[in-house]
Amino acid sequence: MEKLKQLLQRRENRICADCSAPDPKWASANIGVFICVKCSGVHRSLGTHISKVLSVTLDKWTDDQIDSMVEVGGNSQANAIYEAFLPEGYRKPHPDSSQEERQNFIKSKYELQEFLEPSLRIGSDAAKHAANTSHSSSSKSEIGMIEFIGILNVKVIGGTKLAIRDMSTSDPYVVLTLGQQKAQTSVIKGSLNPVWNEELKLSVPRQYGPLKLQVLDHDMVSKDDVMGEAEIDLQPMINAAAAFGDPEQLSDVQIGRWLKSDDNALTTDSAVMVTGGKVKQEVSLKLQRTESGELTLEMQWIALNM
Ligand SMILES: [Zn+2]
Repeated sequence: MEKLKQLLQRRENRICADCSAPDPKWASANIGVFICVKCSGVHRSLGTHISKVLSVTLDKWTDDQIDSMVEVGGNSQANAIYEAFLPEGYRKPHPDSSQEERQNFIKSKYELQEFLEPSLRIGSDAAKHAANTSHSSSSKSEIGMIEFIGILNVKVIGGTKLAIRDMSTSDPYVVLTLGQQKAQTSVIKGSLNPVWNEELKLSVPRQYGPLKLQVLDHDMVSKDDVMGEAEIDLQPMINAAAAFGDPEQLSDVQIGRWLKSDDNALTTDSAVMVTGGKVKQEVSLKLQRTESGELTLEMQWIALNM
């Protein structure tokens, strides 16, 4: 992380590589640029096969990701490649540019690679091959240019008294679904009280529904059995965070609450807290459509368009 911070402090990296907004706190780890929060939203919408967006302050980086940032060498070096053939008089977005201008530019620059040296562009055979074999080409079209309003980090903590689906136990794992996106934990073998402590990440679009959660029993021979499900209403957290603004400016305080009712799966009221400059919410759920089982999660919300 120290290497990354040093790189970020270099003068050229104190402005967004795409729109020149000051003090960028996000980065595209595979492209090797530091970007502002608004541009990071557009990068994310291109899909991780094009741009893998990480927060410089909030995310955990692998050594490989840091090394690849250091290897590129920062915004000037990256732009020397990605903007090598920027047409004369072309106007790059500025910090107050519209979402549309930003999207058009970032898409042209990184996805279509229109400003790259001609032999390296997508139209060349090598790039065509890479595009065809991209495993996420189908999900790309679905995601398209959806504008994401934030990132939801869900730490799946653990379950208690889960239902039995094998002889005397189960091999549970958790699947989270938000719109088209899915994320899942690893399988814990032979446990009805599993502990995962695993963090899953989802991007939240402007039009979002409930976060759906399913616990499944991993089965080697047949289809995995459902061990219960639940829905999480994200509105209390997202609305409270929007109302209170930048959490880094707040001291620790409760900003909202999702109340237990007959219509939801909560086992107890769930408070939305600002803790150490982060918006967090702990949720305990009674699994539905099953005979028994509870699940505990901790969610963190990172708004993108503050
Ligand atoms: Zn920017």
